[in-house]
Amino acid sequence: MAARRIFFFGGGEADGDGEMKDVLGGKGAGLAEMTRLGLPVPPGFTISTDVCRDYYAAGKVMPAGLIDEVRAALRRLEKLAGARLGDTERPLLLSVRSGARASMPGMMDTVLDLGLHDGTVEGLARRAGGDRRFAFDSYRRFCSTFASVVLGVKGEPDPFDALLEAKKAERSARSDVELTAGDLADLVRDFKRVARERAGRPIPDEPLEQLLAAIEAVFRSWENPRAVAYRELHGIPGTWGTAVNVQAMVFGNAGQDSGTGVAFTRDPATGDPGMIGEFLVDAQGEDVVSGARTPSPIAELALRFPALYRQLLDVRATLEARFRDMQDIEFTVERGKLWVLQCRSGKRTGASAVRIAVDLAEEGLITRQEALLRVAPGAIEQVLRPVFDAKDKALALAQGRLLARGLPAGPGAASGVLALTPAEAEARAARGEAVILARRETSPEDIRGMHAARGLLTAFGGMTSHAALVARQLGKVAVVGCGALSFDDRARTMTVGARTLREGDWISIDGTAGEVIEGSVGTSASEVVRALVEKTLDPAGSPICQRLTWLLEWADDVRRLGVRANADQADQAAVAVAFGAEGIGLCRTEHMFFGPGKIGPMREMILARTVEERRAALAKLLPLQRADFAGLLRAMEGLPVTVRTLDPPLHEFLPPDEAAVAETAAATGHDPAWIRKRRAELHEANPMLGHRGCRLGITYPEVTETQARALFEAACDVLAEGLQVHVQVMVPLVGERRELDDQSNVVRRAAEAVFAERGRRVDFKVGTMIEVPRAALTAGEIAHAAQFFSFGTNDLTQMTLGLSRDDIAPVLGEYVARGIYAADPFTTLDRDGVGALMRMAVAAGRAARHDLEIGVCGEHGGDPESIAFCDELGLDYVSCSPYRVPVARLAAAQATLRRPVGA
Ligand code: PEP
Ligand code: MG
Repeated sequence: MAARRIFFFGGGEADGDGEMKDVLGGKGAGLAEMTRLGLPVPPGFTISTDVCRDYYAAGKVMPAGLIDEVRAALRRLEKLAGARLGDTERPLLLSVRSGARASMPGMMDTVLDLGLHDGTVEGLARRAGGDRRFAFDSYRRFCSTFASVVLGVKGEPDPFDALLEAKKAERSARSDVELTAGDLADLVRDFKRVARERAGRPIPDEPLEQLLAAIEAVFRSWENPRAVAYRELHGIPGTWGTAVNVQAMVFGNAGQDSGTGVAFTRDPATGDPGMIGEFLVDAQGEDVVSGARTPSPIAELALRFPALYRQLLDVRATLEARFRDMQDIEFTVERGKLWVLQCRSGKRTGASAVRIAVDLAEEGLITRQEALLRVAPGAIEQVLRPVFDAKDKALALAQGRLLARGLPAGPGAASGVLALTPAEAEARAARGEAVILARRETSPEDIRGMHAARGLLTAFGGMTSHAALVARQLGKVAVVGCGALSFDDRARTMTVGARTLREGDWISIDGTAGEVIEGSVGTSASEVVRALVEKTLDPAGSPICQRLTWLLEWADDVRRLGVRANADQADQAAVAVAFGAEGIGLCRTEHMFFGPGKIGPMREMILARTVEERRAALAKLLPLQRADFAGLLRAMEGLPVTVRTLDPPLHEFLPPDEAAVAETAAATGHDPAWIRKRRAELHEANPMLGHRGCRLGITYPEVTETQARALFEAACDVLAEGLQVHVQVMVPLVGERRELDDQSNVVRRAAEAVFAERGRRVDFKVGTMIEVPRAALTAGEIAHAAQFFSFGTNDLTQMTLGLSRDDIAPVLGEYVARGIYAADPFTTLDRDGVGALMRMAVAAGRAARHDLEIGVCGEHGGDPESIAFCDELGLDYVSCSPYRVPVARLAAAQATLRRPVGA
């Protein structure tokens, strides 16, 4: 038997259910499930996503026999609704909506009020107790949508909006609501005329013809440019297709006891429990979502329609219990009766994602493991994002730079230059500018510009407007519904009160407070950072900090991979510890030489003419480096601290310009000519493959010796203070075992000398980075000399793919855009190439030394996808920057939870 193509729902029964998103799309699955749950859902049917795929496979032709199936479903629907499509006495009106497997808010098309023509509109008016205004309001909405969506009549400005505005001006009406039935009937006539003139064919009167054309238009909208762009940005495959939902209309625009609204069962910005949402009296759903009118908060519904509000609370409880997640509900009230039109898992900010997942687990609706899998690692990054610096912001406010207030739709703080069109936002962002995109309201067309911007500002729309939803999903800062803004498209300016801003002017928005501020405002740490790192806030008083802490503790219970941090200074190490790092996986000692007072002796060391001069300079560096190491060891309190010997080419430390040459000459007593000569000598055509890494330590053993001495003296000092120490010395850029043997000997000799002088010993390990392909290929041999490996995946990627880390970004951008590389290999590990080398090295290394500790310390150590690969390889830990430690803890737990059983 052929697979079912049409799935009916209504009267408490449904052919499909909530699990069938692949076939019914998210909306169709939700409607089926809500019907089964006994919620008040208008009856209808869903045409499956398979039909959309067949439609495209056949070259955009509706599949044979579908019309008969639509007719049969329609008859069933008519029976249940007690009304018939096209009937002039009891006309049934339909909505025809898209609904893909993954939510693509507003990206595809919808036709409402389908079934109206000059005969049925009067029937509709009679059914509405003689309310002709309502009937013609629906009719004009149908005509404009049908003409634009099905017949393709569009324009800038929209021709139907222009007619509506002209009619309002003629009647001196401030809003649509003030237009009479006669005005709306005039508009219907004008809309039909414009549609016929522009499309070359009329809006059909035959309702079945309307229906079939609308269904096809929804299928076609799967391929419209904004839907394609949205899919690209969100990784939604083009092969999924959309379902089409045909449903009996209910009317929110039937007067003062009607309306339409959107509710979130929990706060999508903060995750606060308790329903929030918006409601618009005497309006249809599109009015809320498009942002054309700013609705009132749902709390007002509680006052005006208390019984309805209670019913909505019941719906909330039923849906959360069934779907075990925060739901985003669309509902309509028609003459006092509540109808639920849609439910889906609500989009949310990072903070809200964390809070809701943890709260649902605490409430027993989901398990802790489910909670861990529900939070995308990016959500944690968002929670750590900065907010405005309180002092700077207070100053801005005191200076009268607060321009306006709007709704706080996407939390966080952003400063940037103003862009008034998505194209301008994209262009400026591509030039590296921080951009705030400001619009009257956003439309799905704006998606690329929204993506490019740091923050988003709109004049219209509520918390559930397109701008707000998309901003939250993209993790953008957003202030919406800021009615004080006005725009001059021709002059390309935005005016607020007496101030007019041009594109390129600085502006700041606070998406947590809903404020718009002129100029730039400094940012400061997020609540979580203040509580955990700066300790200026009591974590117990911060719900998000508390939830994040619990979630990460649950992650620690699950994950197999250890998480360390890349840190070179005590303060960075303290941040890492506050975020739960279990050690330092990489201390780049060269970073220590850039601190105050350190670059001078370093330059002296490089400029030395003799070994003696070099030793003298190193003797000045030693106490400085010892103090840095001691700080690091104290901050880590016995956790492993992996210190790498000097890695970069020496010329990086030399004076870069003439002024610095003069300064260095004065400080060191060297002749400027000698300094220039040394700089020229050290110049390399290919420094990344040059005199760096262990090659430096091998040619200048006194450098390694001094670093080792500083480290072991620090370790003895800290041990003497009664603290634990755990030292690992790591040699960079090894490609041949004898290189490691050489450096290992220097380190061990220095250690023994220090231990003899101090009369105490410190346990330590000597290991190597695996970052030269030859090291991976000969890892079995190298492991005989190494007590640990740490993959330097930055260099390993550079050398395996033959891509210069420092120069290749523009080319990579194009490679990724054209699909030559699936992702930037410096961000996400190249499993097939670099990953294959790592796999070999792990196997050979462990075969040679069964207890070999192996980690990764390249940038990939903080990338969730790469972390999953490291887990799969059986590494012991990943090491990443301190601020990525929480992300890595979660990603490591998710990797373990997702690993197939037995793998
Ligand atoms: C690496 O190459 O991955 C690494 C961690 O070392 P660096 O980035 O300092 O070269
Ligand atoms: Mg390296």
